Amino acid sequence: MAEKPVLSVVIPMMDEEEGIPVLFDRLIPILKNTRRSFEVVCVNDGSRDETLAVLREHQARHPFIVIVDLSRNFGKEAALTAGLMQSIGDAVIPLDADLQDPPEIIVEMLDKWDKGAEVVLAVRAKRETDTALKRATANAFYSIINSISEITIPPNAGDFRLMDRAVIEALKQLPERSRFNKGIFAWLGFKTVTVEYERPSREVGTTKWNYRKLWNFALDGITSFSSAPLRIWSYIGVMIAGCALLFGFVVIFKVLILGHRDVPGYASLMTVLLFSNGIVLIGLGVIGEYLSRIFIETKKRPLVIIRKVHRVDQDV
Ligand code: UDP
Ligand code: MG
Repeated sequence: MAEKPVLSVVIPMMDEEEGIPVLFDRLIPILKNTRRSFEVVCVNDGSRDETLAVLREHQARHPFIVIVDLSRNFGKEAALTAGLMQSIGDAVIPLDADLQDPPEIIVEMLDKWDKGAEVVLAVRAKRETDTALKRATANAFYSIINSISEITIPPNAGDFRLMDRAVIEALKQLPERSRFNKGIFAWLGFKTVTVEYERPSREVGTTKWNYRKLWNFALDGITSFSSAPLRIWSYIGVMIAGCALLFGFVVIFKVLILGHRDVPGYASLMTVLLFSNGIVLIGLGVIGEYLSRIFIETKKRPLVIIRKVHRVDQDV
């Protein structure tokens, strides 16, 4: 075994063959300049292109590269977690392969870590490179989740942060299958300081997110960290039942006291019927969201399946 590195950089990768050379050209000199030992843990998240081959090529030249090859695509959150679990450095930094997390910041992060911070969070100064719609939906998501859950997720931070070994060890203790990392990191706590950076747009390739994936990601985040959506339905139910009761009294009053005997129209009946059915269905849907997650958790399947971990000192 080689000596234990001080710094681990963890990079989840899916179909990033064109990005890898650009990434390493920029990342490696920066890491070397820090004058600390380091490893770069690359997780191949079921790429359908030549990502693995390109990584192996680089590994032949750079023995500090560790490749965690997953058996299929498990999604970014799971891939990143697998990489974090495999990392052995005293400080660990997740990084996107597309250089949207500028590696230059690592120097500043290490500096704050030396000064005693356990988490150094990189916060985006602006999100100008995102579309207006993505920014608006992101803002809405963070204000909702922060108002209905106990944790506070910083709105302008991603996974890009330095974490002390103690934080990673704590992370390993969390057994859940649905890994909403931003929420998990926030839940863990620890002494956190921030550094600011500007997030550039993707260097090469295209984003692997679409609005359907983002929607599912948001649902995962909310259902993992808040039970408010589950509880709110009993209140709404009580309110609607209360209104219905009042309405019943009004009808009785009209018939018995005022002597109105006109048959009420279908319109109002249908409205009430459809409305209450809609509410019931929404409530069932919310329960279904939680139930499906409970189902996934109870199966206790491993988060990812690792085909092989390629480490130079163990491969040869
Ligand atoms: N990624 C992954 N598995 C996936 C989707 C993405 O490992 O299923 C990786 C991807 O290769 C990149 C990082 O996650 O290194 C961030 O992906 P992307 O740039 O597409 O996301 P965005 O920056 O748009 O949030
Ligand atoms: Mg990106």
